[in-house]
Amino acid sequence: MTNLTLERGKDESLRRFHPWVFSGAIHHFDHQPEEGDLVRVLTAEGDFIAIGHWQIGSIAVRVLSFQDEPIDDDFWQRRLATALDVRKGIGVAGNPSNDTYRLCHGEGDNLPGLVVDIYGQTAVMQAHSVGMHVARFDIAKALKRVMGDGLANIYYKSETTLPFKADLGQENGFLLGGDADNVAIENGLRFHIDWIRGQKTGFFVDQRDNRSLLERYSKGRSVLNMFCYTGGFSVYALRGGARLVHSVDSSAKAVELVNANVALNFAGDPRHEAFAEDAFKYLQQMDADKYDLIILDPPAFAKHKDALRNALKGYTRLNVRAFEKIRKGGILFTFSCSQAVSKDQFRMAVFTAAAQSGRSVRILHQLHQPADHPVNIYHPEGEYLKGLVLYVE
Ligand code: SAH
Repeated sequence: MTNLTLERGKDESLRRFHPWVFSGAIHHFDHQPEEGDLVRVLTAEGDFIAIGHWQIGSIAVRVLSFQDEPIDDDFWQRRLATALDVRKGIGVAGNPSNDTYRLCHGEGDNLPGLVVDIYGQTAVMQAHSVGMHVARFDIAKALKRVMGDGLANIYYKSETTLPFKADLGQENGFLLGGDADNVAIENGLRFHIDWIRGQKTGFFVDQRDNRSLLERYSKGRSVLNMFCYTGGFSVYALRGGARLVHSVDSSAKAVELVNANVALNFAGDPRHEAFAEDAFKYLQQMDADKYDLIILDPPAFAKHKDALRNALKGYTRLNVRAFEKIRKGGILFTFSCSQAVSKDQFRMAVFTAAAQSGRSVRILHQLHQPADHPVNIYHPEGEYLKGLVLYVE
């Protein structure tokens, strides 16, 4: 295995268990590794400090362990078994009314570069690093061992998450099974999950707890679910007793998905309607006072730090429209899933929007990603989802 020696003093963040080595911290390799290879990381003094996957790019090594241990079948199995224990502990796994959850959240589960979402009997596995791609068959084997009979399919979906330049010729496909049955249960509600054509692994698992909260606010309200995608919030609002629910997404495919999911749970329910429309246009053209509960869950406006300023303006512009139109005494659920936008920056963007609209606004809840998307305390960058629930007087 290749040994990588760090520049003098560049071991500091590893001593604090931060799981990345940046390319600028590398002094030399004892021999040149291939992308995706395991490398042992040594301090300038020649002491072992970490082992991880190497690839070309600014994040050069993603650390798998701070112990000098083999990265073998047993290693993958132990890490995934721990991840499963966590999910059982928080009640999302081994729960008859919920079989939709994130089993592995990269750095949050000490497996940087690996995401695994569970949908009933199917695991959708996503590699964000070349090393995890190279290890995919070993990981799939360990996953099957850990999950046992409860797992029939593993769909590998990394075509768009792997670095393009690594030129891996990657294709999506099943590593185990091949079932077409794709209905999964979240908090007793059923959803079709399109892991083949859908965004990400097919569903936004990270909004589960926030959808539950929304359900509690829905009774008797007129709900607008903006950026609805598969309609998670809409279905919860219907169960919560909403008077009407309108789902909006610019994608016609999303509108099909939300209609299918409403039909799966509340077939023929006249309270629901979905529209394929641009969010900004819809909010501008809709009548004031039409809705007293609005959800804004847009895609990440800033994928990178350099897009930050525009992203913050985007959040302000979007939220102003909702503040201007929401009925008196309305509730706004507003989110940002941009990792580059901090909680404080998002709150400031929403504050600016509230001030521009002149409405009196109270913060009722401050929301974040759920416990099956844990944040490694040594890797605060793992925190990405934030939301506010606001009372608009
Ligand atoms: N709230 C969803 C996830 C939203 S993902 C859930 O709980 O599952 C973001 C969605 O925003 C995508 O479906 C995308 O099609 C949609 N979108 C992106 N830009 C948009 C725009 N300008 N207007 C309306 N929808 C948009």
